[in-house]
Amino acid sequence: MTTNVPAYAVPAANAPLERTTVPRRAVGEHDVLIEIKYAGICHSDIHQARDGWGEGIFPMVPGHEIAGIVTEVGPGVTKYAAGDRVGVGCFVDSCRRCAYCRQGLEQYCAEGMTGTYNALGRDGEPTYGGYSTHIVVDENYTVRIPDGLGLDVAAPLLCAGITLYSPLAHWNAGPGKSVAIVGLGGLGHMGVKIAHAMGAEVTVLSQTLRKEADGRRLGADHFHATGDPETFTKLAGTFDLVVSTVSAPLDLDAYLGLLRTGGTLVNVGAPEEPVSLNLFSVIGGRKTLAGSMIGGIAETQEMLDFCAEYGLGAEIELIDADRINEAYERVLRSDVRYRFVIDASTIR
Ligand SMILES: [Zn+2]
Ligand SMILES: [Zn+2]
Repeated sequence: MTTNVPAYAVPAANAPLERTTVPRRAVGEHDVLIEIKYAGICHSDIHQARDGWGEGIFPMVPGHEIAGIVTEVGPGVTKYAAGDRVGVGCFVDSCRRCAYCRQGLEQYCAEGMTGTYNALGRDGEPTYGGYSTHIVVDENYTVRIPDGLGLDVAAPLLCAGITLYSPLAHWNAGPGKSVAIVGLGGLGHMGVKIAHAMGAEVTVLSQTLRKEADGRRLGADHFHATGDPETFTKLAGTFDLVVSTVSAPLDLDAYLGLLRTGGTLVNVGAPEEPVSLNLFSVIGGRKTLAGSMIGGIAETQEMLDFCAEYGLGAEIELIDADRINEAYERVLRSDVRYRFVIDASTIR
């Protein structure tokens, strides 16, 4: 039997969010019921609420940066008990059988992962995200938030944190590596913190020098303005790894020019329009142009443990739920340092 729980939903594409209720399924054999304490606002919530990526399912309850407390577990649950601090990220299920799922790469599931919201679950019912008081999730798609991390600053790690951790780990950011993070927003600020904690030499490439003091405080060794054309000549051939978090189309040739021979440019930001490049930008210097999307469940747990060990939470602005619409406008203006997090106790 389903239970209706309070939530903030987008009733139709481009409409403002409003308070409502949405159904949550009964706690099944392997499910945990989570009382949501905090939910981060991700830029992709706004894309989907405004139907920027097409095929939205409405009403839509966004939110895939969820932190809370387990309040009930199904009879078959072995990993969690009531009272545990847990998180839920961008997906709540996958096929569990394909080669990727079996390798812990559920985000690349051959059948497609089941999004935490704006998706149809494997039971055919729409999924509703974290702007809500409660959620029911399979224990295998739930992660543990270590005691050392505040739930409020941990919430954004479930999307922003893992989106940066996964490529930084995959392409071996660490001592002796020169890493550039493009864009100092919700994603980028976690990239700086994580790359610095991994031991890499970190450079921020931001449109202007406006956020330089922040960037250095977060762990950047260097800070350069991409709005200054000299930056691209000055830094040519400098980096082993460049991770771009910006969703505006990049001048790929210019950014590939910043790589050392054998270097990699990874895009985690997603422009809506196709971008082009001159293939000589990768041929000379045997460079790689790559993409990366969040991380699997095991890697998300590894990221949370890493962030707890190094004391890395997100920099957040905590808001009440009745300010979500205003927060969306501010995110679109890049007027947030660096992530809005909703206090879910204000959703009731
Ligand atoms: Zn996200
Ligand atoms: Zn799969």
